[in-house]
Amino acid sequence: MARVVVLGGGVAGHTAATFAADWLGKDHEVVVVTPNSKWNWIPSNIWVGVGQMTKEEVTFDLAPVYEKAGITYKQAKAVSLNPEGNASGDKPFVTIEYTGQGKAGKSEEVTYDYLINATGPKLNFAATPGLGDANGLGEFTVSVCTADHADHAAHEFAKAIEKMKKGERQKFLIGTGHGMCTCQGAAFEYIFNIEHELRKAGVRDMADMQWISNESFLGDFGIGGLHMKRGGYAASSRLFAESLYSERGVKWLIGAHVNKVEKGKVSYELLDGSMGEQEFDFAMLIPPFAGVGLKAYDKAGEDITATVFAPNGFMKVDANYSAGAYENWKASDWPRTYQNPTYKNLFAAGIAFAPPHPISKPMTTPNGTQIFPTPPRTGMPSGIIGKAVAHSVCDLIKKGPSAHLHEASMAEMGAACVASAGKGLFDGTAAALTVYPVVPDFEKYPGLGRDLDYTFGEIGLAGHWIKHILHHMFIYKAKLNPGWTMIPE
Ligand SMILES: Cc1cc2nc3c(=O)[nH]c(=O)nc-3n(C[C@H](O)[C@H](O)[C@H](O)COP(=O)(O)OP(=O)(O)OC[C@H]3O[C@@H](n4cnc5c(N)ncnc54)[C@H](O)[C@@H]3O)c2cc1C
Repeated sequence: MARVVVLGGGVAGHTAATFAADWLGKDHEVVVVTPNSKWNWIPSNIWVGVGQMTKEEVTFDLAPVYEKAGITYKQAKAVSLNPEGNASGDKPFVTIEYTGQGKAGKSEEVTYDYLINATGPKLNFAATPGLGDANGLGEFTVSVCTADHADHAAHEFAKAIEKMKKGERQKFLIGTGHGMCTCQGAAFEYIFNIEHELRKAGVRDMADMQWISNESFLGDFGIGGLHMKRGGYAASSRLFAESLYSERGVKWLIGAHVNKVEKGKVSYELLDGSMGEQEFDFAMLIPPFAGVGLKAYDKAGEDITATVFAPNGFMKVDANYSAGAYENWKASDWPRTYQNPTYKNLFAAGIAFAPPHPISKPMTTPNGTQIFPTPPRTGMPSGIIGKAVAHSVCDLIKKGPSAHLHEASMAEMGAACVASAGKGLFDGTAAALTVYPVVPDFEKYPGLGRDLDYTFGEIGLAGHWIKHILHHMFIYKAKLNPGWTMIPE
């Protein structure tokens, strides 16, 4: 009997574990190690953050789902890997520390035959003084990155609306809280939901709306922007985004590295090296992401973290990490199998894998500060990668070490994103975008790097319906309800 250990019960890990359990059946064991007791459909945190959904609507308990699937569930966080075992034995193991199940604080060594690291991001609030610290979100801003954060954001938002109703103007500042952030799409969706709710509450005229982000142009979204066919020409996402912001009266500040947050004020540096300050009454700033900080040790107990993980804490996989300067970047630098090059029974999926380089063009200020989006690994790619990795591991177990590994390169896959502005079925609008491939391939698609037949964007009410459908469909799937394997990632 082989044991597959999956670290992380988010989009990638849950997908990998549930498919692995389904494909392997009772002959082998699948173990999930994840610190949270609940699964969270993170995209709907946006609606929680404006009070349009409760956190209960976007989460559910993992334990009964894993019991139904025959998955061993350990509510714990992984701390370190010993891919060669240790002095007492050759079997690889992961050291975990329980966070629940009545064993909080206790450590355990869990041996594995195959390990899938799907630990997602560490929300690195501590990278910007005042945005937070090692314990998480600070006291001056809000976040929508977790269901609890979003619930807190909704309460603060409700307070701001009350103040406006009493005649007090409010400044809203939304975007990224550091020069090296990703996930601009989430902040983009949040600012337009805030704007929509302010209109609904009849207080839009009392609000000043300000976007701040590390993108060098509006609509970069961490993927270097995209182009869509429009009346015979290719329109850039910059046009799309600038139109949206202008129409809704949202000012923008881009190419910004927020370097300090204080009560009611952020300090920032811009790409031209100039410094500035922006005041706010309500601010939602996405933190930069890092790996969750797993350590790795060899058999002799020597620290081999730098062998297994990149300096940003994400796990090294089959990517080309030596592409060098932007001019040399190729679509083929991106990983295909997500297998660790040193330890062939280690894989990473979702945000946990180390990308070879950004997708957006790197930029540095005259002061030497780097300001550009780091590459996003959104829900769809994370789920697809999780499933492909599970498939490879199952084949390695069933067919032996020479089994063909399944591939899921972000340079050969598309992604769809729906950014709502409101939740109602008959009011508001949503921007629905598809991009193919996520990582542009300038050799295959000279000029714009993408296939314009599969890259498009629309703004309209229908996007809301898609977002509602996705919310229910993915929660239905994640609960392993009948037919779940048929629902795409
Ligand atoms: C507000 C917001 C809105 C978003 N909206 C969209 C959207 O509309 N569309 C879209 O495609 N994407 C969206 N995304 C991105 C999407 O949520 C991510 O791409 C996706 O969650 C990544 O999946 P993952 O499994 O890699 O990470 P996660 O889903 O974050 O899962 C990581 C898991 O690992 C666990 N973990 C952490 N540390 C450890 C440890 N030490 N040991 C074990 N487990 C650990 C975590 O608790 C978590 O369960 C959004 C993101 C945010 C923050």
